Amino acid sequence: MTTHSLDFIPAAEPSLAPSSDPDPIAGGRVELQLLTTLKCNLKCTYCSLGVGDVLGSQTELKYDIGQLAAFVDRHLKDKEVYVTFYGGEPTLNRDMMEAVMRRFPEFRFQLQTNGTLLDDLPDWMLARLSNIPVSIDGGEATTDGYRGRGIWRQVIRNLDQVHHKVGGSITARVTWGNPDTSFEELDELASALEAVDYLYWQFVADEMYAGDSVEKRRAVLVKLIDKFFAAIDTLYPLIPVMGMVRNKLLPNRGRELYAGLTQCRVSSHLINVMPNGEIYPCPDMMYAHHMKMGEIQGNWLKKSPLQPTPDMPCEQCEAFSWCRRNCMRNLYLGYVKNDLRYRANVVEPICGLIRFMGREIDRHDPQAWFAKLTVPVRRRLVDNEVYEYVEIMP
Ligand code: SF4
Ligand code: SF4
Repeated sequence: MTTHSLDFIPAAEPSLAPSSDPDPIAGGRVELQLLTTLKCNLKCTYCSLGVGDVLGSQTELKYDIGQLAAFVDRHLKDKEVYVTFYGGEPTLNRDMMEAVMRRFPEFRFQLQTNGTLLDDLPDWMLARLSNIPVSIDGGEATTDGYRGRGIWRQVIRNLDQVHHKVGGSITARVTWGNPDTSFEELDELASALEAVDYLYWQFVADEMYAGDSVEKRRAVLVKLIDKFFAAIDTLYPLIPVMGMVRNKLLPNRGRELYAGLTQCRVSSHLINVMPNGEIYPCPDMMYAHHMKMGEIQGNWLKKSPLQPTPDMPCEQCEAFSWCRRNCMRNLYLGYVKNDLRYRANVVEPICGLIRFMGREIDRHDPQAWFAKLTVPVRRRLVDNEVYEYVEIMP
């Protein structure tokens, strides 16, 4: 559990639905993240939904598919919609997934899952998924340490079983919490396991950066970035490094889908629908009721309240042109809520690691490396659909 303050404003029960903003979504795309349930069948020690007791708090859907269709028709009609099934563990409410996939067959779909129940999904559903981010913590010992004994093997076995049936990609999604996570275990996920197409990691949003733990992570980053630039006939599929290199080479790509705002999309076009129908911009801040930006049953939607403010340091930062405000939740807690402890122990160490990665990338002369790539490898780096499904930055 993170240690930042939870002095949020309690939920107000409006008697009338607030009026919607005329154009609440920036740009032509929208990610409709549907939390099918807040139940989960695992108990990961660092789960962000533990903050404010969100996890497990809603187990039943309080809106129906007709109300969702009316909401889509009113607010998302002219947009290119992609749905992310999220939770809790979304596969625990397979009926809802099925109802949405059948009602909106023209949408794209991704499934964020812990992977334990993937082998239960029918083939038609797997075939329709554009991306499956699977939460995992690294190698077997690290993952089982956070998630329980035997989970790593169960998940990898499931991935092997379903990989050829999945229409799109499988992305291993690592929350890099343990400072002793090694290069070898991340490299195994990225390049040795057949069933994994991409590795994405994010630095844990918790106080796990004390002592030599930043140094240890830097040493692993040096090796990962070295390996990334060692190849020119293929792409080492590490999403944060791919995205950073792309943004450094072609800065417009880091701006164009996000109205110049954060690439995790919370300020422009990500809407999280809780099982009770309330809508929030960031899935890790659903405990903060003043962030509520819409509701399915009342059929209203406002612009994301999670926007840059002058309190945030990004525009003066050396990384700004390619980082573009890594995590708005962290920036909000550290600089708007002014939680100085969280700022010093979580936000600043993560920003330090991002700037370090930028300098390591520059050390490898990315322009010269890019000039040697074949057209298919360039395309995989520059025009990759997978960037739409993950935060890009760590
Ligand atoms: S590294 Fe931190 S301060 Fe710099 S742009 Fe990114 S989020 Fe902002
Ligand atoms: S990266 Fe974006 S979606 Fe993820 S926790 Fe931060 S603000 Fe929320």
